[in-house]
Amino acid sequence: MRRDLPWLNDPRPWAVLVSEVMLQQTSTSRVIQPWTKFMEQFPTPDACATAPLAHVLVAWSGLGYPRRAKALHGAARTIRDEFDGQVPRNVDELRRLPGVGEYTANAVASFAYGRHVAVLDTNVGRVLARALANESLRTSDARILAQVLLPRSGAAEFNQAMIDLGAQFCRAAPRCEQCPLARSCAWRRHGGSDPAPRSAAVSRPQAPFAGSNRQLRGRVLHALREGPRAKTRLVSDLGVDKARADVVLESLVRDGLVTKVSRAYSLSGDDSR
Ligand code: SF4
Repeated sequence: MRRDLPWLNDPRPWAVLVSEVMLQQTSTSRVIQPWTKFMEQFPTPDACATAPLAHVLVAWSGLGYPRRAKALHGAARTIRDEFDGQVPRNVDELRRLPGVGEYTANAVASFAYGRHVAVLDTNVGRVLARALANESLRTSDARILAQVLLPRSGAAEFNQAMIDLGAQFCRAAPRCEQCPLARSCAWRRHGGSDPAPRSAAVSRPQAPFAGSNRQLRGRVLHALREGPRAKTRLVSDLGVDKARADVVLESLVRDGLVTKVSRAYSLSGDDSR
C-alpha cells in the first residue's frame, strides 16, 4: 500500500519540509519532478537561503501558488539565521517558519524527527470522517481523533499509512471495493450521505485552473524567467487584455513575487546575500 515517492526515501528534514510545502496545494504526481530538481539545486536550507528569490521562483515553475516559493525561501533564511541552519525539531519552532502552518509543522515533526504528533491532511480527514466517525467532524474533534489513534511507537509510519489510505482508496470518489478497511468502515457498514466533503481538513474542489488568473500568474512568472520585460511587450506576449494583465501584475507585485521598475517588470529578489 505504501506509495513509492522520492521524498519518502529521503530522511533529511529539509527534504521533508520542501516536499510538504510543495504538497500543500499541488497534487502528488505534479510534485515529483520539481521536488527532485529543487533538491538538486538547493540541497540544504543554506543553499536556498543564499540564492536570490528569483532563482527559487524559477525552480518553482509548474507547481502553482508561487507565494509558497517565497515563503519557503523565507523559511530557509529563518532556518539559517535563527536555527543554525538546522530545520527545527518541534512543532512550536516549526510554526515560526514562514508558510508553515499546523499541518506542515506536524508533518515535518513526525516524518523527519519521529515526533508523536498526528498529521491531519485532506486524505486523513476523509478516512476519519468515513471509516471512523461516519459523520462530518469539527476541526477540534478531528484533531483529537487523529491523535488518539496514534500508536505508542511508529507514529510516522502510522501517519503515512493513513495518508496513503486516503490517497489510494478513500479518495473524493472512494474505491471501497479495494480498500483494506472495507469490512470495518463505519460509513460503508451503516450508509447515509458521504460525511467527508463537509468534514475538517477535507479540501473543497477548486475552481477550474484553465483560463483563471491563477494560470495567468504562472504564465507571467514563466515569461519573466528570461529577464525583465516591458509591460507593453509582456501584455502582447500573453495575449490578454490590458485590464486583466493589470490585475494580475498588481497581485504579483503585492505578493512580492514581481518587481516593477518604471514600465518594466522582473522577478523579485535578485538580492543574494
Ligand atoms: S471502505 Fe470506502 S469509505 Fe471506507 S475507508 Fe475504505 S475507501 Fe473510505
